[in-house]
Amino acid sequence: MTTKLSSCAAEQVNGERLLDLFLELAKINAPSTKEQLVADYLKKALPELGFTLEFDDAHKNFDGEVGNLIAWHEGTDSSIPPIFFSTHMDTVLPTEGLKPVIKDGVIHSDGTTILGADDRAALAAYLEAIRAIIEGGIPHGPIEFILTVNEQPGLVGARYLDYSKAKSKTGYIFDSSGDVGQIILKGPYSSRVWFEVEGNAAHIALNSEEGNSAILIAAEGLSNMKLGQIEEGTLANVGIINGGELTSIIPGSVTVAGEVRSFSKEKLDAQLKHMEEVMQKAAEKKGGKVKIKVEKKYLGFDIPKEDILVKTALKAARNIHVNPYLTETLGGADTNVLNENGLTTITLGLGFQNIHSFRECISVENLVNTGRLTAALIEQWYENHKEK
Ligand SMILES: [Zn+2]
Repeated sequence: MTTKLSSCAAEQVNGERLLDLFLELAKINAPSTKEQLVADYLKKALPELGFTLEFDDAHKNFDGEVGNLIAWHEGTDSSIPPIFFSTHMDTVLPTEGLKPVIKDGVIHSDGTTILGADDRAALAAYLEAIRAIIEGGIPHGPIEFILTVNEQPGLVGARYLDYSKAKSKTGYIFDSSGDVGQIILKGPYSSRVWFEVEGNAAHIALNSEEGNSAILIAAEGLSNMKLGQIEEGTLANVGIINGGELTSIIPGSVTVAGEVRSFSKEKLDAQLKHMEEVMQKAAEKKGGKVKIKVEKKYLGFDIPKEDILVKTALKAARNIHVNPYLTETLGGADTNVLNENGLTTITLGLGFQNIHSFRECISVENLVNTGRLTAALIEQWYENHKEK
């Protein structure tokens, strides 16, 4: 058994080349459902690194330009179980004319667009890590990329991914704001809920006696609804109210929509039940009606600390001299959807900040460490399985 204190693979990562690659990828204009340009880039770049690739038909479900990309590299030792790296190819808007600016070791946009470090930084790091592994002649098992489209509006590409194309069962997604070293083991269950509240429409001056305001019924329900942080690890929110026609009309219907997130499926269900009950009660009390629809957004995941994915991540982080730390998140990610579909996945931090805003940024240090950690993960994954 060999015990290594540092990663040879990580030492092969070329920080300057990685930075250049990130700047190039960041400038590719490919927001959600319009990922063709970044897909074209990868169609050329991945075969040069020894990958075969294919696209699925996910985009046909939502009128996108291109499907999810699944790419495969045999590696130097096919006896090792394959490991995948995943991220999304899309960014939020606006991206038109994106010009990255580097100041004091931190990459920003010029203030008129987002930067797209979410998640082109991961994409750049993955490509550089593979290049480094190959150039360094580092032995490694098969590597797969699962690169999704249309992630930003709600993990849509991952939901329609053709999972029969993925050959790996375990992998990593670098897509969180913690500095490199962050390892996220636990993500929430989430469901959306819609209340269609019905009263009775009437004109305030002509037949107001027939009126029953749906807005007031909804208000009664909402005023009795527990929202915000329900307890540690359970959140609820009402984010949408739609209804009413004219200021002179007593509104006959209003739609109220919200969502619940929790690490516990039981607590998620209990909170949904509470929200349904108070709205139902309000409708009964005020002589109206309510139709309720609940829809699963995604399932939670909880990867044990003893899992080899976690052990590999802890060791690989130490090998590149960053401090690993285990966390959980109430944010949703492709990680939720991949786990739900049988791919054991954990999220790792890459240190981007203020994403989805003009102030989005990432330090060059975190960018380069993402490349180094990716290379170290591939190397450590191989070592862990070789030792067995
Ligand atoms: Zn992201």
